[in-house]
Amino acid sequence: MPANKAWTLASRPQAAVSEDNFKLVESPLPAPRESEVLVKNLWLSLDPYMRGRMSDAKSYVKGVEIGEVMVGQTVGEVLESRIPAFKAGDKVLTQLGWQLFGTTKDPIKIENTKLPLSYYLGCLGMPGMTAYFGLKEIGQPKAGETVVVSAASGAVGSVVGQLAKLWGCRAVGIAGGKAKCDFVAKELGFDACIDYKAGNLMRDLQAACPKGADVYFENVGGEILDAVLRVMNPYSRIIVCGMVSQYSASEAYGVKQLRQVLVNRIRMQGMIVFDWRDRYGEALKALAGYLAQGKLKYRESVLEGIENAPQGLIALLKGGNFGKQLVKLA
Ligand code: NDP
Repeated sequence: MPANKAWTLASRPQAAVSEDNFKLVESPLPAPRESEVLVKNLWLSLDPYMRGRMSDAKSYVKGVEIGEVMVGQTVGEVLESRIPAFKAGDKVLTQLGWQLFGTTKDPIKIENTKLPLSYYLGCLGMPGMTAYFGLKEIGQPKAGETVVVSAASGAVGSVVGQLAKLWGCRAVGIAGGKAKCDFVAKELGFDACIDYKAGNLMRDLQAACPKGADVYFENVGGEILDAVLRVMNPYSRIIVCGMVSQYSASEAYGVKQLRQVLVNRIRMQGMIVFDWRDRYGEALKALAGYLAQGKLKYRESVLEGIENAPQGLIALLKGGNFGKQLVKLA
């Protein structure tokens, strides 16, 4: 039998994540106990929230302890089952984290295995649900309105802009670099995409939003939030989904344009995707439907082998990914 390999948290980063923060540990394969399955992980999802779990600061979920396996969602195959509803060969979604094998009591069966299994970690998984419920329920976009989204080429942002278009809005992306912006505008069909690294963010935003912005889907925070606040319309909405530019910052960015919230009566609301757990089926049906009709395009950034997981997370937190970041484990 092969050995298990798992990345554990070795130390907590004080600022940017480094490879020293992780330790690769080998161990024999675990045996499933009563009401558990043994799973061989095929795909590991890397996500910005993992930076928060490496910290012990108070958050909406407890952090990973030193020596524990790094947290993460995987798609895997059941090798051995001691749960009657599961059998060897079933494809499952798990929370087994950064490891090749593991046992779990809570696998989620993937019923439709015709679609690529990795999609259940991206556009049909947690990032897709985030885009769908954040935009629909908090953004409440109406046809004809302008929706702006940051980190627009990424797992969440790319779905947000495409949903905005499908729901009759003007979609404006913000992303880092020409290649990502070309992809967002030309391949994904956004009306415009602004390269925030080009140095003309304010001017480019005003040009891309001639009637101002009605919804802003916030993924990055910092100076980009300040710039977008200046183009928000009266009674507009901001979905505070993520602040990736702040996750490794040693000092919090001080927002300068908060007065816009007051004068424009902007509704700014944080979101955590788990709050819509009971309605995931609705989003899955809608997103799978758009995919099947060719109305939702999706890009992945794939690293091969568990050894590369730390490097993948480090790159993701600096924009080194281009699309949903995954590690192919088998
Ligand atoms: P992405 O695939 O979008 O990858 C992260 C992207 O963030 C990078 O590609 C990069 O894009 C951008 N980025 C990184 N550093 C900076 C920076 N300093 N300034 C501006 N942009 C930066 O990740 P996800 O789609 O998985 O996640 C997007 C956001 O959504 C994150 O903030 C994440 O935490 C949040 N999220 C929140 C959830 C919730 O329930 N609230 C659930 C899921 C995700 P570029 O090169 O274009 O700058």
